Amino acid sequence: MDFFRISKEDIIKQIKKRESFQGGNEELLFWASINGYNDIIKYLIEANREEPSKFPLQINKYWNLALRYAAKHGHVETIKILIDADADNPSYDDVIINEDNIKINYTVASAPGSTRHKERYNYLLLDWIYDNCLPSIFEMLKNHFEKKNNSFHYFERPVNPESGLYISRWHIIKFKVSDLRPKPYTVTFSRSFINKKDFKVHIKCDCDIGKKNIKCKHIKDIISSRTANIIAGKLDEGEEIKNTEIQDESRNPKEKIIENLNTVLSWLQSTHKENEPEGINQGKLFEYVNDN
Ligand SMILES: [Zn+2]
Repeated sequence: MDFFRISKEDIIKQIKKRESFQGGNEELLFWASINGYNDIIKYLIEANREEPSKFPLQINKYWNLALRYAAKHGHVETIKILIDADADNPSYDDVIINEDNIKINYTVASAPGSTRHKERYNYLLLDWIYDNCLPSIFEMLKNHFEKKNNSFHYFERPVNPESGLYISRWHIIKFKVSDLRPKPYTVTFSRSFINKKDFKVHIKCDCDIGKKNIKCKHIKDIISSRTANIIAGKLDEGEEIKNTEIQDESRNPKEKIIENLNTVLSWLQSTHKENEPEGINQGKLFEYVNDN
């Protein structure tokens, strides 16, 4: 069926008969969201609520596409209807965003349902809305997400001062450190921005000493640029974020280690070293905060 060529009334008739549409009911939802056809959207939602098996509908499919369409086309009433039907919930789809020709492939699928996961998901969605929608629509949705999650506060993406381009809100770089033992240890550096300019760096190591939140020699080696025992160093691909810009498998591993080491050292260079805690720090080994 080509629903672009039939009337709204005919579509509603078919929804009432619980007939699924070619391309899925979601495709109809997307199309109705673009055009602000609120009566169709209400019928779709209602049909799904009454008989979900007969009329399936994933309201937040494809990274909240229905909501994003409605937002992009400025349909305030449609946005409200969609939000009431949970179209703003995380959809656990991978998210690919192009930011000024830098392709960043975010995956927020690490721990679906966790508070942090939801928070990151909200940031990505609002970033998209910031770039693509009217300021008034952005303000409306920003207020919505902040009200819905009271720990969440949106701030604009950080910008690289040299290039002027947006940079990721979160980075994880992991180093594998060989210690003449069967299994290498992993030292993890994670950087997360706490506002547009300032960030925190967490460092942890999974060796026995590192697990006790004591600065082990593996961490000391890396932050002192001693690379002899480092056998791999790369941006983590699975855990929280993918950055295709950095994960270039064709490069020489040693070069990659140095490159990632330099990245980590540059993070630490702009932090308050004097705030470096000794020993245990509430489950997080070391936390540095930069002073921009
Ligand atoms: Zn260690």
